[in-house]
Amino acid sequence: MTDATLAVHGLTHDFGDRRALDGVTFEVRPGRLTGFVGANGAGKTTTMRAIVGVMRPDAGDVTFGGAAMTLEVRRRIGYMPEERGLYPKMKVAEQLVYLARVLGVGKAEAVARAEALLDALDLTERRDDLLHTLSLGNQQRVQVAAALIHEPDLLILDEPFSGLDPIAMDAMAARLRERAEAGVPVLFSSHQLDLVERLCDDLVLIHQGRVVASGDARALREQRAGRRYRVEVG
Ligand code: ATP
Repeated sequence: MTDATLAVHGLTHDFGDRRALDGVTFEVRPGRLTGFVGANGAGKTTTMRAIVGVMRPDAGDVTFGGAAMTLEVRRRIGYMPEERGLYPKMKVAEQLVYLARVLGVGKAEAVARAEALLDALDLTERRDDLLHTLSLGNQQRVQVAAALIHEPDLLILDEPFSGLDPIAMDAMAARLRERAEAGVPVLFSSHQLDLVERLCDDLVLIHQGRVVASGDARALREQRAGRRYRVEVG
């Protein structure tokens, strides 16, 4: 693969007279686990929705590996939305196989990937349960499996850690780290700066629709210790 950097440039969007995004610009580099941090309402979800093409911002553009986000490019994204929109009346394994098939994966391969992901996310015992009967934490894990099932070249996850117990958090962190190490740019949002600083290679900090800092997590943490930026997190 050539330079598979996700580049977000100048995203600006108003909801009515409220400016939700104001020139949001940052990069997510291949192999870098990147945390997107900000308080509730800072603009994380809107930015992610603009990246994956669920909404069209008033201005700005997004490229992946230098290419515009055409339908073809978008199919290579794994996206975990904030609203957990899976099919409540499907069994867990069935759901994953179905998603993989929709995304063009062959039947045998889809089944094999679903079983491997269920195993990796400690969901094998839940494979035949209906989705809506699972705990929120387990539904969350299924969401992550759903975002990974077509082996995407880019991962965008909205609050993947919210509502998880500590063991599930470790499992989630391990999966994201694994994907990053496989060379995939991974962007996930969170309002927990401490968690993100601990896990990530890079950070993007957003406050009231503006990126206030971005780059190497360690360098930013040192700056924060020196109070060279301030971000309000919830
Ligand atoms: P959260 O962690 O609460 O999801 P966030 O950082 O993801 O917060 P966004 O959901 O992107 O923030 O919201 C950014 C701003 O845009 C907020 O002021 C929000 O109220 C507003 N907003 C988001 N979606 C809409 C919408 N569909 N209509 C009107 N306003 C919206």
